[in-house]
Amino acid sequence: MTDGIDVLVHEVGPRDGLQSIQTIFPTEAKIDWIRTEAAAGVPLIQVGSFVPPKLLPQLADTGEVVAACKDIDGLTMTVLVPNLKGAENGMKAGAHMIGQVISVSEAHNQSNVRRSVQESLDDFARIVEHRDSDPAYADIVISGGLATSFGCTISGPVDPADVMRVAEGLVERGAQRLSVADTVGYGNPGQVKDLFTELYRTVGEDFPVGAHFHDTRGLGLANVYAALEAGVREFDASLGGLGGCPYAPGATGNIVTEDMVFLLESMGLRTGVSLDGLVAAREIMERHLGGEPTHGTYITAGPPKGFVPASKAA
Ligand code: ZN
Repeated sequence: MTDGIDVLVHEVGPRDGLQSIQTIFPTEAKIDWIRTEAAAGVPLIQVGSFVPPKLLPQLADTGEVVAACKDIDGLTMTVLVPNLKGAENGMKAGAHMIGQVISVSEAHNQSNVRRSVQESLDDFARIVEHRDSDPAYADIVISGGLATSFGCTISGPVDPADVMRVAEGLVERGAQRLSVADTVGYGNPGQVKDLFTELYRTVGEDFPVGAHFHDTRGLGLANVYAALEAGVREFDASLGGLGGCPYAPGATGNIVTEDMVFLLESMGLRTGVSLDGLVAAREIMERHLGGEPTHGTYITAGPPKGFVPASKAA
């Protein structure tokens, strides 16, 4: 963990947020957003995804965005890829971290990437092999994502044993970190605490693990708190909660970055992120959204009187 930081904030709005809305966000504005949010102290930003442009025209400029953000001091640029082809493009473009996501639910993985879980694990091994084949890629981190870890819109409840099996499969194939996602907003705090506790028992308590929660049913930040209790110190969130839930039209999706940073900082956990800086980044983002809804409560209420964020306390 970086000095002076207790919890890592991973902004996923430029990928997860934009992917879920119809608006085609201008490339220059994406870069401005990313730069402003990095200047606010956000250490990790998911800047896009290397998928066929026909599938996600919103993210067709990811290569350009990566190239334009390479010089940002202290920023780890992460990208998501569906397969080896995407990973090759991501590495060539200069992304610092490549994430491949596998749905723990077999039915969800089939519908998402038209592969079995085992086939996706094989793909993951090929991505690691590709990274290892070129010394220029030695510093690129390969992250394994576990989608639908708390439930699935197709098959319903997901067995924690299946989550552990996929996690072990990813670690065996060279994953350097795991990202566990409540893709459809089914998880509750009790379930979250139990699952992460078991996960650390499975992969080791020092293994880097991030969590990705949705606020679809209002439990997003409660789930963050439960994961903190289990030892998780890295969280995905989306500025202004951008991005709806693809499985529940009109519902909220990602948890709100500003609200999560407020939660962490008010509890004495240093994120290194400035709330004022996030508000400035949000203004840039909202200017180009074409009326897409944003969310969050910090933005309307502001800080409590006398509030000193942990990152600013002596
Ligand atoms: Zn999400």
